[in-house]
Order: sequence, then structure tokens, then C-alpha cells
Amino acid sequence: DTADVVIIGAGPAGLVLGNLLLRRGVDCVVLERAGRDDVAHRARAGFLAPNTVRILQRHGLAEGLGRRGREHGVCEFRTEDGRFRIDYRQFGTGDPHTVYPQHELVADLLDHYLDGGGRIRFDTEAVAVADADGPAPTVTVRDGDGRPGRWRARYVAACDGRHGAGRRSLPPGSVRHHHRDHGVTWLGLLAEAPPSLDAVGYATHPRGFAGHMARSADITRYYLQCPRETRADDWSEDRVWDELDLRMRAPDYGPLRRGRVIRRSVVPLASDVIEPLRHGALFLAGDAAALISPSAAKGANLAVLEAEILADALTDALAQGDSSGLDRYSERCLAHIWRAQEFSHWMIRLLHRLPDPEGTAHFQERLRSARMAALRDSAPQRHWFAENYTGI
Ligand code: FAD
Repeated sequence: DTADVVIIGAGPAGLVLGNLLLRRGVDCVVLERAGRDDVAHRARAGFLAPNTVRILQRHGLAEGLGRRGREHGVCEFRTEDGRFRIDYRQFGTGDPHTVYPQHELVADLLDHYLDGGGRIRFDTEAVAVADADGPAPTVTVRDGDGRPGRWRARYVAACDGRHGAGRRSLPPGSVRHHHRDHGVTWLGLLAEAPPSLDAVGYATHPRGFAGHMARSADITRYYLQCPRETRADDWSEDRVWDELDLRMRAPDYGPLRRGRVIRRSVVPLASDVIEPLRHGALFLAGDAAALISPSAAKGANLAVLEAEILADALTDALAQGDSSGLDRYSERCLAHIWRAQEFSHWMIRLLHRLPDPEGTAHFQERLRSARMAALRDSAPQRHWFAENYTGI
């Protein structure tokens, strides 16, 4: 089998790229390990940055989020010193987020791609990319029954996440791999419960961080900082809600609206960047390029941006023989990635007591509360926050 561009992975990165290439008449195929139902039902991100919405609108991919997405623009911080709110539409660029669950976006992108006649192979796992530094790279695959196959391509876009075949196929020494474990773990919870406040809630507490993020009128995501060794099922529902009440200070600020916890995951906060994002004809995008801790909700937004940059570059290369966009792809994306990493790192240090091997816990804690106070009291600091919080 052949295609000019073989895209591995049908997440936000792979499907935005597939849709854009399809619209421009570029011959492409998407290879996806999971089945269609799984792809369209994986609950993950929910906060789309203004730039992400603009990209999706520009390419006619925003119909669903235009109808069902909800504008969101307020954060509430609950701390040992009381609570404060930032209406970030009043600061920075003045843009809100759009709350739209990632799996709904993925389902929309999938429908759009298939309606346009796009080729996709579900239940097809990419095993390896070979000969990426030559003119005819190949992707070896196996289907759901373990039968092997092979795709020949001119370019391969690895949009298959951190553990995908794209990263695995990079020859040793061809890229630099940055990894940073932030030493913090979140228990991520999806609750069948209406949001409890009309804001993103960030609570700092001596027992650890707790977060609240609306997903829809009756689904809310919560996070609880937990010990690294925690397993997703360790905490009973009662324990989850009691701990959320305590850390979100429900007795002071009002009760949380409880409901069934329908999904749980343990999320170690880590950063992971590959540099450069290219080896010959193999390009990395989305989580395959860089993993970012979910503390600042950037991952899906970076994935969409990188997919647009890569689609432009691939179209120029294939339609006009102009490969300058491909040559600049890595540098352009890494500039966005490192800014997002820096802000996420700042958010992690704003919201958590971090492990402190040097015995300076009190010092670190004082710095953290000074950071929080600056955000509460300084308008320029809130401008900086708003610009980075919604920016990509
Ligand atoms: P993915 O969405 O992971 O898609 C990769 C696809 O590749 C998958 O469909 C997978 O099945 C497929 N695949 C993998 N390996 C292979 C293979 N070998 N062969 C074929 N197919 C393969 N980001 C935000 O911007 N905002 C948020 O609010 C936010 N919240 C998050 C909350 C949680 C709990 C988590 C875990 C993440 C969150 N993120 C958030 C991050 C965001 O979900 C990811 O950054 C985003 O999914 C990246 O998109 P992607 O297309 O690169 O990868």
C-alpha cells in the first residue's frame, strides 16, 4: 500500500493533519491502533485555547464546537489565605477558552475526514518506521489479528503519542530527549456531576492540590494530588469526595455537587520533549513531539497548532517542491513548545508543595505563597498570567 503522507495516530494531531491534507488534495492515510468507537470516546482534554478555535474555524472544522462548546474565562484560586478570582477575559489578549471535550472534537474531526472521503485504517498498529532518511520510507504495521503489512510513503507524520512507533523508530543519537519528572502526581477523576463552580477551581492545601474543571452541564473533571504509588482504584468514591470537600474548602465556600466517578487515571506530571522534531522524512507532532504536564491545559492545543504548521509545510513540499516549511517545522514548533513548558512549570510551582530533598521546604513554601500573592495583587502579573494561560 502507498500514500504520499502516512499519518500514524487518530488523535487531535493526526486528524487535524489528515483533514487539512485531504482538503488540499494531498494523498494521505491515517493508521490508528484503536477501533473507531474507542477513538471517539476517550475523555481527556477539554479546554481549547482561542488560537486552537481560530485554526479549527479557518479550516471549517469548528461546527460542533461552535454549537456545543461553551465560553469560559474565570479561574478561582482557593488558598490558605482565602480565595480570589481572575476573570482572564479582562487581561492579556482578552480571549476566553472554549470548553469542548476532546473526544467530541476527535469525533467531529473523524466524521469530517470520513465524509470528505479520507482514508483511515482502524485496528492497525504501526510497528516501526524504516528508511526515514531515504527517499522511500516505510511503515510496518499489524492489524487487529496480528497480520503484518507495510505502507510506503514519501513522508511519515508520527502523531501517535509518547509511546508510539514514531518515537521508537528514531535512531539512537539522532535526537535529544529532554525528560523532567516534576515529582507530583494527580489522580484524575471524571464525575457524572454538574460543575460545582462557574470557574476553573485551583485549591492549594497542606494535604495537596485539588482542581475543578467543567466539561459539560453534567460532567466535571476533578484532580487530587496524590502519592506517586497511588493506583487509580485505591480511593473509594466517599474518600474522593471527602478529600475534595476538604481541599476545596467546601465548608467555607459551598458544597461540591457529588456524583458517580465514571473514570479515573493516575497522571504523573512530567515534561518530555524531543529535539529536533524530525528525522529525514519522519516528522513528530502532538504528544509524540512533546509531552506536557496537564497543569496548564496545553497538550491538545499544541497538537492542533503543530498539525496546521505541518500540513502547510507538507503541502508546499508535495505540491510545489518547496521544502523550506519542512526545514523550519521543528524550530517553529519547538518555540511554542518551550513557552508552553515554561508556563506549565510555573503553574506546577504555583499549585503544589514539591518534594524537597534539600530540606528547604519552608523556604519553598514562602516563595510559593509570594507567587500566589503577586497573582492576586498585581495587575501586570494577571496580564502575564492571562496571556500565557490562554496563549499558544
Ligand atoms: P493522542 O490524543 O494521544 O492520540 C494518539 C493516537 O495514536 C491515539 O488514538 C492512539 O490510539 C494512536 N496510536 C498510538 N500508538 C499507535 C501506533 N503504534 N500505531 C497506530 N496508532 C497509534 N490538553 C489540553 O490542551 N487541555 C486539557 O485540558 C488537557 N487535559 C488533559 C487531561 C488528561 C487526564 C490527559 C491525560 C491529557 C490532557 N491533555 C490536555 C493533553 C491532551 O489530551 C493531549 O496532549 C492530546 O491528546 C495530544 O493529542 P495527540 O493527537 O498528539 O495524541
